[in-house]
Amino acid sequence: MTPGCDHNLRTTRIISILLFTAVSCIPLLAQSSPEDVKSYVPVLRSVKSKFWKIDPTLGYAVKNVGGGVYVISDNGWQSAFLVTNDGVIVFDAPASFGKNIPSAIAKITDQPIKILVYSHIHKDHIGGSAAFKSIKGLQIIALESVADFLKEMNDPNRLLPNVTFKSEKTITLGGKTVELTRHFYHSHEGDLFIYVPQAKFLMAVDCVTPGYAPFQCFDITTNFHEYLKVFDELSAYDFDTFVGGHLTDIGGKKDVEITKEFTYDVYNTVKRIHNNLDQAAVVADAAKTVGTDNEFALFKAVLDKVTNESVRELQPRWIDRLAGVDVWLPSHVRTALVYVRWDDKE
Ligand SMILES: [Zn+2]
Repeated sequence: MTPGCDHNLRTTRIISILLFTAVSCIPLLAQSSPEDVKSYVPVLRSVKSKFWKIDPTLGYAVKNVGGGVYVISDNGWQSAFLVTNDGVIVFDAPASFGKNIPSAIAKITDQPIKILVYSHIHKDHIGGSAAFKSIKGLQIIALESVADFLKEMNDPNRLLPNVTFKSEKTITLGGKTVELTRHFYHSHEGDLFIYVPQAKFLMAVDCVTPGYAPFQCFDITTNFHEYLKVFDELSAYDFDTFVGGHLTDIGGKKDVEITKEFTYDVYNTVKRIHNNLDQAAVVADAAKTVGTDNEFALFKAVLDKVTNESVRELQPRWIDRLAGVDVWLPSHVRTALVYVRWDDKE
């Protein structure tokens, strides 16, 4: 066997081995130096102008969005509550300001807190629930899978649910209704759509951040296949107010639509660049420098080339449309690349 043949065989083998190898979503840089942080473009002016005014002594702000629904935010996290004639239903208790929710509600209504709903398992959205511990008769409603996880975790900051359901539940209280529906776009134990029809209010945490690109790796989704579907699932609802659980504003249908457009642009671009790339040529080129022993390094050259070309193409299209694009785009591309390479059809 000639060295050339050996090289080609090895290249083919590397490519085929790598078809079965998974990579996790890793940021391209291990850390951000002050120079790196400074290199990001400032938050878009149109987004900055919508930051909520937070009273520093309170640490949060409350906005009445109609139909008995109020949204609470500290410009980092968001939760909400529904006031009825027979008590209050709270949607999430973030770790950051959860302890202030009971007093924030008491400023709006004399009605007692009767129900707390968990959108999903994550600490940052329900890790403030300990502040509700002393509320007598409180129902904590969550998916069965969420309750099972929390039981196993036994975290004192996340009170255990005492009412669970598998996929759908309608809550009726004081003449108002809340529709809860299970989805799988974000967390491995499931995520809820929380819908208050009378208020045209829809809350779905960690998928759409109005004004911004999604957070790292498409909001650290554990299921990009389901994430791709979430926008049409949201758009099927009749809503005026959308709460995504994060950042500096609430949104509406247009925010769901633009996040869908961004997500599909990333996905389609990565797919085209990946599927058209001459991978053997990239591996052969890298092998000229490092030889053929380090198969991981050679495969990384392929993934890096797709990532860099995708970011180079996508960033100019989106940098002026959504905030934070340059911060997280490489991570979005990596998530799409894992899906395109290992899950998707050609
Ligand atoms: Zn989450």
